[in-house]
Amino acid sequence: PVDPDAMFKQGFLDEVYKLRPSENVVTRFPPEPNGYLHIGHAKAIAVNFGFARHHGGVCYLRYDDTNPEKEEEKYFTAILDMVEWLGFKPYKITHSSDNFQKLYDLAEKLIGMGKAYVCACQDEEIKRQRGGEKGETPRYRCAHADQSVEENLTKFRDMRDGKYKPREVFLRMKQDISDGNPQMWDLAAYRIKTDTPHHKTGFDWKIYPTYDFTHGVCDSFEGITHSLCTTEFIASRVSYEWLNKNLGVYEPMQREYGRLNLTGTVLSKRKILKLVEEKHVRDWDDPRLYTLIGIRRRGIPPGAILEFVNELGVTTNITTIPIHRFEQSIRKYLEKTVPRLMMVLDPVPLVIEDAEELELDVPFSPKDPKMGSHKVRFTPTVYIDRSDFREVDSKDYFRLAPGKSVGLLHAPYPVKATSFTKDESTGKVTEIRGVFDKELKKAKTYIQWVGTAGSRKVEARIHNPLFNSEKPDDVEGGFLKDLNPDSEVVYPDAVIESGFDEVKARAPWPEAAGESELGKGGPESIRFQGLRVAYFAVDSDTTDDKIVLNRIVSLKEDSNK
Ligand code: ATP
Ligand code: MG
Ligand code: MG
Repeated sequence: PVDPDAMFKQGFLDEVYKLRPSENVVTRFPPEPNGYLHIGHAKAIAVNFGFARHHGGVCYLRYDDTNPEKEEEKYFTAILDMVEWLGFKPYKITHSSDNFQKLYDLAEKLIGMGKAYVCACQDEEIKRQRGGEKGETPRYRCAHADQSVEENLTKFRDMRDGKYKPREVFLRMKQDISDGNPQMWDLAAYRIKTDTPHHKTGFDWKIYPTYDFTHGVCDSFEGITHSLCTTEFIASRVSYEWLNKNLGVYEPMQREYGRLNLTGTVLSKRKILKLVEEKHVRDWDDPRLYTLIGIRRRGIPPGAILEFVNELGVTTNITTIPIHRFEQSIRKYLEKTVPRLMMVLDPVPLVIEDAEELELDVPFSPKDPKMGSHKVRFTPTVYIDRSDFREVDSKDYFRLAPGKSVGLLHAPYPVKATSFTKDESTGKVTEIRGVFDKELKKAKTYIQWVGTAGSRKVEARIHNPLFNSEKPDDVEGGFLKDLNPDSEVVYPDAVIESGFDEVKARAPWPEAAGESELGKGGPESIRFQGLRVAYFAVDSDTTDDKIVLNRIVSLKEDSNK
């Protein structure tokens, strides 16, 4: 088994710790509540919560909610759900907005120090101040930068009191425009926003702090020791440090790791919204999406995601992984953790004329006796998969055909087909008849079957990649032109053996890996391997009358089952 803490013991994250060894590590996961989390965020969660846990510290869940136009209440709950689903418990749940007053006071303090000013310049002018489009002209400051402290304070309070319209003025930090880093070129600290109520403070505030003003200061308030973020913030490290230093507050250390990206899918909120609105997928939690709610619904265990992130390790490089590699990792995890059952996707009855009803004792796993066993009723009529029968035999074919025998997993003898009937209008085989082939000691192939007693009918949904290419965004006409028409194949009449009830009663699977409390109660935690078919989990569309299953992953790469 993979050491769940391996990624903290060496490499980048170990270096980060050594730069600031702390007895009381404090980290934070700071999502903006403006959308559902995706697979990339699982890495951020694993890194921040995991780093704290490994060093015996704590991690905050901080909603970075300074942008009322984009944020919605439903995302707050969804984000916390995912953190808990991955097995982490926030030390405290905080909001950047909890600090609006303190942030405001610090902004006044900065103004008082002559380190911030209220500016009325508009975009074009600001661009020129920053050296033009390509930095072709010298940088300079506008006259607003020379306003007195009193003037800036008056104007800032007027901003607060709604005496300006949005975009008319904004508060800028007075940093160092001679520095080569654009993050030092007098960044915005506060902007006026009056149109949308904030989910916590309503219309109390007419001004909102920017990311650059908020993030480091909130880190400081919470006593964050190691502020871990992604590499697009490398350039921001100087402004992060500049602000806390100038304010004279506690200084956390920011370090940056590489994002996790998946190819063969889209993660951007705008694009997923389009897929949902145009009904290419069922919803934001569609199992074909790589939102965390989609991944959960599909049945991928949280432990498998953590193991995947851990295996990739953490460096400053952006990790770009094709979907099939992600699936390979999930498959490996399921292989050792979930029970096996027999199910048939496209059933056709096989009547074995000389068979009698039998009770068989079948292990849930051929390799792991701890999983135990269960009773399976063998009946004289069993369902087998249509794809395991051929009307005309051939030499290189080793499953069932007239005159040919095939093994039935766990059954007493192989079966030889003697005849079959066909519906002439559809051309489909409706029944196969056969007898036990008692002479044959060992069949070349063993197929799965489901008896008529105790078995259940289920709807099985087989998910294939949503897109045809590795880079849907690069396809001419955009990602919507790259949709795979066969991304969901439904088998409405699949059947599953009675052992399903026990697997259901014993969920969540895996029972191992200390995951037994995780995802308790969720239908997706009822997971199993359908022998010779695929890995499956129960879908949330399941009702008392109807079981719906999702394929988690195929048994092998490139298999279409
Ligand atoms: P997106 O636009 O994809 O939602 P974001 O950067 O806006 O991403 P936030 O809500 O700000 O997302 O994310 C919270 C944390 O998760 C941030 O620290 C961010 O760096 C991290 N994060 C976001 N995407 C990834 C990713 N693909 N890999 C690793 N960490 C990520
Ligand atoms: Mg985001
Ligand atoms: Mg963001």
